[in-house]
Amino acid sequence: MNLQNNLLKGGIHYLTSDYYTRNSNRSMHKGMDFVGQTKQDDIIALEDGTVNYIGYDSRSGNWLSIKTNGIEHRYFHLENNSIKVKKNDLVKKGEVIAKMGKTGNATGYNLHFAIYKDGHYVDPLPYLMNNDPFNLNNKDAFTTFIKDLQKALGAKVDGIPGPETLNKTITVSQTINRKHPAVKAIQEYLQALGYDLGPYGIDSTFGPQMSKIIKEYQKNVVGLKGNYIDGVITAKKYTWQKLLNLA
Ligand SMILES: [Zn+2]
Repeated sequence: MNLQNNLLKGGIHYLTSDYYTRNSNRSMHKGMDFVGQTKQDDIIALEDGTVNYIGYDSRSGNWLSIKTNGIEHRYFHLENNSIKVKKNDLVKKGEVIAKMGKTGNATGYNLHFAIYKDGHYVDPLPYLMNNDPFNLNNKDAFTTFIKDLQKALGAKVDGIPGPETLNKTITVSQTINRKHPAVKAIQEYLQALGYDLGPYGIDSTFGPQMSKIIKEYQKNVVGLKGNYIDGVITAKKYTWQKLLNLA
């Protein structure tokens, strides 16, 4: 299951409390809590929508709601003065809306994310799972990525990844194919997914920031452990398979 990168920008975060687990005060937990890699990760919009509420209360802290197809996506415990949108603003999926905070009744820095539908809270998990940023709603970015990559690797350019594309993959890292058109395609895709490429941006070069991002990707998305988290995209191997959505 991949819930990465569709609520918090840039990767690592953990689910600390699931929907309908019991809170310490014995009330039911009507959302999901996520913790970021830093204390104040950027929060991004799960879907396109309209900001329909921004407010504060002692329990929720600073919070805001984005309405999408009649369903409210609610983000709680936002850091003070970090909200980047205004009421009635249209926001795009992946747009930074605020920073994670611990305002209100929060035990630490976390994002409490909730889905409010037909007058009550529902389990957010299906909404997060249906929002896999690596293939579904980011279909355009994915297809563009595959075509660019196929071009760069000399594979048949049809936008559909398969065994032929995988076979043509090459190893890219800080030392192997460091500067290559395939690196550019990967960078553009990772940026579309919300990864921070650092000060050099899309430069076709596999530098330290790319290595760092790939390590995060290997750990959080590919699910690799220990020495396998090497920051290298090895020809035909797991990281490529995941990037191509073949694993
Ligand atoms: Zn919570």
